[in-house]
Amino acid sequence: MALIVQKYGGSSVADADRIKAVRDRIKRTVDAGNQVVVVVSAMGKTTDGLVALAESVALTDNPTLEEIAAKEREMDLLLATGEQVTIAALSMALQAVGQPAIAMNGSQVRVVTEPNHTRARILYVESDRIRSALALGKVVVIAGFQGVAIDPVTGLPSSEITTLGRGGSDTSAVAIAAAIEADICEIYTDVPGILTTDPRIVPKAQMLSEITCDEMLELASLGAKVLHPRSVEIARNFGVKMCVRSSWLDDAGTVITSPRIGTGNLQSLEVNRFVETVSIDYDQVKIALLQIPDRPGIASQLFKSLAEQGINVDLIIQAVQEQEGVNDIAFTIPQNQLQLAEVVTRGLEIGASLVTVDSAIAKISIIGVGMIGRPGVAAQMFTALADVGVNIQMISTSEIKISCVIAAADGEKAIAAIQAAFDVPVRSHQACEIISDNNSDNNLDISPVRGVALDRNRARIAVQQVPDRPGMAAKILEQLVEQNISLDMIVQSQSDRDVNEIAFTVAIADLAKAETALKQFAPVLGYGEVTCDGDISKVSIVGANMIHQSGIAARMFSALADSDINIEMIATSEIKVSCVVRDRHAEKALKVIHQEFNLSGDLAIEVPSILKK
Ligand code: ASP
Ligand code: MG
Repeated sequence: MALIVQKYGGSSVADADRIKAVRDRIKRTVDAGNQVVVVVSAMGKTTDGLVALAESVALTDNPTLEEIAAKEREMDLLLATGEQVTIAALSMALQAVGQPAIAMNGSQVRVVTEPNHTRARILYVESDRIRSALALGKVVVIAGFQGVAIDPVTGLPSSEITTLGRGGSDTSAVAIAAAIEADICEIYTDVPGILTTDPRIVPKAQMLSEITCDEMLELASLGAKVLHPRSVEIARNFGVKMCVRSSWLDDAGTVITSPRIGTGNLQSLEVNRFVETVSIDYDQVKIALLQIPDRPGIASQLFKSLAEQGINVDLIIQAVQEQEGVNDIAFTIPQNQLQLAEVVTRGLEIGASLVTVDSAIAKISIIGVGMIGRPGVAAQMFTALADVGVNIQMISTSEIKISCVIAAADGEKAIAAIQAAFDVPVRSHQACEIISDNNSDNNLDISPVRGVALDRNRARIAVQQVPDRPGMAAKILEQLVEQNISLDMIVQSQSDRDVNEIAFTVAIADLAKAETALKQFAPVLGYGEVTCDGDISKVSIVGANMIHQSGIAARMFSALADSDINIEMIATSEIKVSCVVRDRHAEKALKVIHQEFNLSGDLAIEVPSILKK
């Protein structure tokens, strides 16, 4: 007997017939000897309708902060009705076929949240009522997306209804699964599972039978449409096993694996540490190639040659060129491969004006799923380093990781500063594993690259001639954090001059705001030109097993070079390589990379309607 949480999205419960189909599936699960807790969304597009209703009756010009706050409270009362309809109807449907069931809304269960209307984070879920209903043989049907606010004065649950933000019922389901220690949390939706890439561009994208939480989070642009990232964050922190399946098919779907031992605290489910661990690696050497020609094939040639010699390249960084037509590329490798790497690099005729080597470096990294969507975390890391006078030589970021190259001599100081800033232990990241049921011998069959993501909604900003001294990266980021601008793919290249380039990508919608903020501070902070480019896309490969093989990045670069696509920026982490390319090459880039790693299947995937939007 297993304890199973099943979550059904809006399209799965869109009308009476679908509710009955869901009822049948629940009944079958119970009849097979399981205990079932069901979490549901509002029927069909109900929530959209409620939002539209609110806008049509309550649209005010220039509302004051008080007016906004007052409206948000009522908004939650309004939106929470959607899910309440579904739970009552589904519970009645179950009872009608003789299956005892009880419906509960968020406040009846006590899904206790922060007192933040329309975007509340879950603090904890009381499990008593759920458990006692289960013990009576009932199916417990719970309204997703909603909770009840904690009273900041008494610290007890109040009677104020909150919602978690659009798409939040996945998060409700996983939080409930964590609280009742369910064996699995099944997310039923209208896609068959997680695919290797976007099937609208690559029709033969394949379904993955498993993916790790880390991969899922790094594949944000692929996965976010299917699963609310906050739900993956909770699954990761609490070791909840999840799966995504179609509510129309009997296919197994995609299992999302979590680390075996979670590190979460059930009393603050969603407000865990932003940063989970900090680690430092002294076994690194940095090689930089300066002023190499900016044309397709250069990165490919370089990293292919290194891979051919079995050199394990770790970080790869290419920022934005300051001078027309030339780039700097820097990378790090293990100490013991320096000689070989130097010979290979210096022997290449790719036109670098200078090759520099620095073996007195260390790589310091912070990891945490909590940093997703919180631009302040990177700024805080850079500030912590600046405050103790540590200069950052190189930066590379991904969704859940930030790595900085610093002088090895600064290592201890840097670690202490970051530990203090984030109150985290020093240890290596506990990786999510791929636990394949049918393949025990070390996952040999699993491709090192699991998914390829394309993000077209990005713009790039480069800040030129940033004085090479502690605190600059932090100050630049702070300008953006103050404007609440989320940035990703931050890259700072190594330079032999006394200035650096810092580049990053932001959402296109934030570009103008970011540009204004940065230009305004140029005279104060002493950096040079700020260049913006809204015409780019970001393409990334992700795979938890990538670190075990050399030459993966090289294959990605070669695939692009063979199609004559120029790479304009590179950032890497252990499980991800991201490149910025011209937007007009975006789809081509995605296709050739997907092809390079043989990720296509034989059959075209039918594009589910929710992805067609
Ligand atoms: N009904 C809510 C929404 O549409 C929550 C959800 O479906 O996840 O955003
Ligand atoms: Mg949803």
